[in-house]
Amino acid sequence: MKYVGAHVSAAGGVENSIKNAVSIGADGFALFTKNQRQWVAKPLSDRNIKKFKEYLEVHNFSPDAILPHDSYLINLGHPVEENRIRSLNAFIDEAKRVEALGLKYLNFHPGSHLKKISEEECLDLISESVNFAIKETESCIFVLETTAGQGSNLGYKFEHLAYIIDKIEDKSRIGVCIDTAHIFAAGYDIRTKEAYEETMKKFDEIIGFKYLKGMHINDSKAKLASRVDRHHSLGKGEIGLDAFKFIMQDKRINNIPLILETIEPDIWAEEIKLLRSFIKTKDD
Ligand SMILES: [Zn+2]
Ligand SMILES: [Zn+2]
Repeated sequence: MKYVGAHVSAAGGVENSIKNAVSIGADGFALFTKNQRQWVAKPLSDRNIKKFKEYLEVHNFSPDAILPHDSYLINLGHPVEENRIRSLNAFIDEAKRVEALGLKYLNFHPGSHLKKISEEECLDLISESVNFAIKETESCIFVLETTAGQGSNLGYKFEHLAYIIDKIEDKSRIGVCIDTAHIFAAGYDIRTKEAYEETMKKFDEIIGFKYLKGMHINDSKAKLASRVDRHHSLGKGEIGLDAFKFIMQDKRINNIPLILETIEPDIWAEEIKLLRSFIKTKDD
């Protein structure tokens, strides 16, 4: 089973994300549970939570198919302690929102060293932050996203994520999300069958498919190894459609949300149909 959807809007209330997902024919989706550009948000109301759970059930969404994304402001590896603590508090609040909604995952970008500390020191701070968040919450699985490595963002090498995972005390609470545009910009080619298999082999050896909890399905305006984060619609960018066929036909990638973050929401319904058309058999 492959859950296919997009990062939909939750404007006007988290429950609206479900209507938006249904309207594009998705059976999985991503959302922000709060405004992603603000530090503080109103707590979710009981009414929001009740409606969200009700709609999930009515429309038959599995919590396994939903990948909430945290705020872009959060930097768990921030070199300045005061700023890192502010990020950590916001991160814990986001995880508690996810738990209140009956969801499983919180997708986040590892963090940035801001050229003030070494990569390793920053990765240590991120691991420390996640270990703390795990202790402060009940069940949320924290899902590290691969990044393009723009600026001083870490997570552009599979080794970065493996390093963090290695330091997490409760490994049942940590996972990984591959963003196809990000790994491509970071230098992992997936355009041909050989390149795709090579990249996935590296992913399995360095991190392991058991940690893969979701994927972001994006083409890239930026070139291979450019370290620039620019998404594009499927088939219109530097990656091309074949890579998405390989993903849809890859049995290692079953039962996780496959989320479009492509740049034209108006064609998400078509892109979802296109991705589903790449699946060979019903069992996939
Ligand atoms: Zn992301
Ligand atoms: Zn992404």
